[in-house]
Amino acid sequence: MNKENILGIDVSITSYEELKNNIEKDIKNNKKSFIVAINPEKILKARQDEDLKNLLNNATYQIPDGIGVVYASKIKKGKITSRITGIDCMDMLCNLANEKQYKIFMYGAKKETILKAKENLIKKYPNIKIVGTVDGYEKDNEKIIKTINKSNADIIFVALGSPKQENWITSNMDKLCVKIYQGVGGSFDVLSGNIKRAPKIMQKLGLEWLYRLIKEPKRIFRQLKLIKFLFLIIFNKKSK
Ligand code: UDP
Repeated sequence: MNKENILGIDVSITSYEELKNNIEKDIKNNKKSFIVAINPEKILKARQDEDLKNLLNNATYQIPDGIGVVYASKIKKGKITSRITGIDCMDMLCNLANEKQYKIFMYGAKKETILKAKENLIKKYPNIKIVGTVDGYEKDNEKIIKTINKSNADIIFVALGSPKQENWITSNMDKLCVKIYQGVGGSFDVLSGNIKRAPKIMQKLGLEWLYRLIKEPKRIFRQLKLIKFLFLIIFNKKSK
């Protein structure tokens, strides 16, 4: 898959359809793949942290999750034209699993959140096979690995927040039999109904960040980083 480098981090140039086809091939070929969602905050963090940078660049698919990544590509006259959000990618994988009977494991978030998220996923995809769940506060990693391997899952969603979930995936992938790994951040909270996503129109206009800011004003400190990120993009472009 083609990738575009944004401030040192590779981002996949893809559509949901292409990504879906690739994932299906990976499952059929028994190939392990790691999907990581890229946003400006992660790119800035990775500029200061070589390990995080390598981890992100070594993932199989780096999806352009944040609208800032799309803006950056536009400024650099790149080819990334729209977001592939972590939660929509997760939904696409659930749809695929529902269709092809791939087995899903959910790891992360609070016990009641994960159970409600599972229940809602089953309501949406009646044929989905969710073969196991472990909440994100279980301490015994050996036990977690055993439970996941026993489930024979094909796809795992890990919701521990970033970069904890990405670190967990890369440190444990070798011990696991699962094929597709995705870090999904707060997606179980959204699926459970605890947190609402922005209205569709705001998502389409690239204003999901504004909705989240209104709902959680303390996100301002995280979101201000977007301005720094865009400055860096513009400056880098001019210096070329
Ligand atoms: N979480 C967890 N275990 C931990 C820390 C966090 O399961 O040790 C969960 C937390 O309950 C929440 C999610 O990870 O469901 C973090 O979501 P957040 O929106 O912070 O993730 P982001 O996408 O911003 O990284």
